[in-house]
Amino acid sequence: MITLSAPHISDAERDSVLRVLDSGMLAQGPEVAAFEAEFAARIEAEHAVAVNSGTSALHLGLMAAGVEPGQEVIVPSFTFAATANAVRLAGAEPVFVDIELDTFCMSAEAAAAACTDRTAAVMPVHLYGHPADMDAFGRLCDRRGLLLVEDAAQAHLATWNDRFVGTFGLGMFSFYPTKNMTSGEGGMITTSDAELARAARLLRNQGMERRYENEIVGFNCRMTDLHAAIGRAQLARLDEWTSRRRDIAARYDRELTSVVTPCVAPAARHVYHQYTVRVLERRDAFVDHLHENGVGAGVYYPTPVHRLPSFGLDVDLPVTEAAASQVVSIPVHPRLTDDEVSRVIEVVNAWS
Ligand SMILES: *Cc1c(COP(=O)(O)O)cnc(C)c1O
Repeated sequence: MITLSAPHISDAERDSVLRVLDSGMLAQGPEVAAFEAEFAARIEAEHAVAVNSGTSALHLGLMAAGVEPGQEVIVPSFTFAATANAVRLAGAEPVFVDIELDTFCMSAEAAAAACTDRTAAVMPVHLYGHPADMDAFGRLCDRRGLLLVEDAAQAHLATWNDRFVGTFGLGMFSFYPTKNMTSGEGGMITTSDAELARAARLLRNQGMERRYENEIVGFNCRMTDLHAAIGRAQLARLDEWTSRRRDIAARYDRELTSVVTPCVAPAARHVYHQYTVRVLERRDAFVDHLHENGVGAGVYYPTPVHRLPSFGLDVDLPVTEAAASQVVSIPVHPRLTDDEVSRVIEVVNAWS
């Protein structure tokens, strides 16, 4: 089976974990601080705050920015549930809007139309590694005085007009094992606002900056030094892996014939967390065809978040519904060999 994702774990990660174990310092410590500094430097962000998951990054980021009960946050429904869960966990209401079919990202026009006097923030998702339209969302948030939050869980090193995602607004990344880089579990909040970064650090650690001088009520969402050490080893190879993902995607773009290949906006550098095609008819039979021929395939996401039992909302989002019924992600991770990529192309193109 050619797997859909596979974390790249080498001696660098193994040695890092052993180094931390031998140090005796297992919880949040110097490795976390180094990981934050290195991650911030790599994406040219001013501040980075590491936490124990991407979901925590979104949740604490929203709280640190002052999002609170009674407010609304505009989100896409075509995303992983964590995007909207974080809004609800912060006490606010997610308002679900439609996407653009070519990039699968939230429509800035639809977001503008959904603004009310309760809207606090707009939270596009850089889905599959393709940046949402940061020009349009930047203008919308400037015009209305709204907070721009970027769910960049799938988009490490993606850029919009040569600027890294996660630096346009309040950024959030995930290091779950299937993402473009991993720390086991983990997440990162990125911001240019020193006060917001400090608030996130307080929320992460029981409201303490100095030990036993708790300033606010906070969580324990700390990242451990073990996880940070894995993350640092991964970050050192992220450029190489991203190039490999982009090379594989370029081959698919050229050679796939039987499916609709993904669009890339002119301002975007896509990092292909997923290579997601559209199959206009009999999508589920296409997935079966891939599986029967030893090619991993996934549907992200089969049910729009607003219709999940956890939200259960009746909203009309026709583009989201179309995407949910057509998308299929095929293997694009950097551990694929050229022969495996050829095999994926052969199997996809055999579909008719
Ligand atoms: C993975 C993911 C998250 C959550 O990250 P975790 O590290 O799994 O908590 C949030 N949003 C999107 C779009 C994701 O893909």
